[in-house]
Amino acid sequence: MALRNIRINEDPVLRKKAKKVDRFNKRLHGLLDDMAETMYAAPGIGLAAPQVGILKRVIIFDVNDQLFEMINPVITETEGEQIDIEGCLSVPGKYGRVQRPENIKVEYQDRNGEKLSLEAESLTAVCVCHETDHLEGKLFTDIVIEYLTQEELEESGKELDEAL
Ligand code: ZN
Repeated sequence: MALRNIRINEDPVLRKKAKKVDRFNKRLHGLLDDMAETMYAAPGIGLAAPQVGILKRVIIFDVNDQLFEMINPVITETEGEQIDIEGCLSVPGKYGRVQRPENIKVEYQDRNGEKLSLEAESLTAVCVCHETDHLEGKLFTDIVIEYLTQEELEESGKELDEAL
């Protein structure tokens, strides 16, 4: 495994659309393993392949010490809304309020190509939405309602290692 370089700010790769994965091989597994190592080292709780310069539809995230790997994820259902504070490993130091669906259903493949689906809510839903946006070249800064000042961030109790 190896740490990959996280692309930040105006890096053009962050604005490109990622391509579907059709080979579930060792190279993909290496990417997934590297992404997990890179995410935990950052530290963060989510990472999409374009954030390490790879334009493939691959995302990972960790909620409650469970690592999720999703290849070719597609959100097929959304319901309700929630507003939570988000930060992004590719936009260091900025945190803001973002509106997302409260509940989602996502269809995806695992690292071996098996088709799966997940119904998710709260933080897990936020992670899937934030990371799948990365696959479209979108950042939370595109839809942020308002940024938080350092003081507001401290008062919010948001952990600074929860960037995605
Ligand atoms: Zn992000």
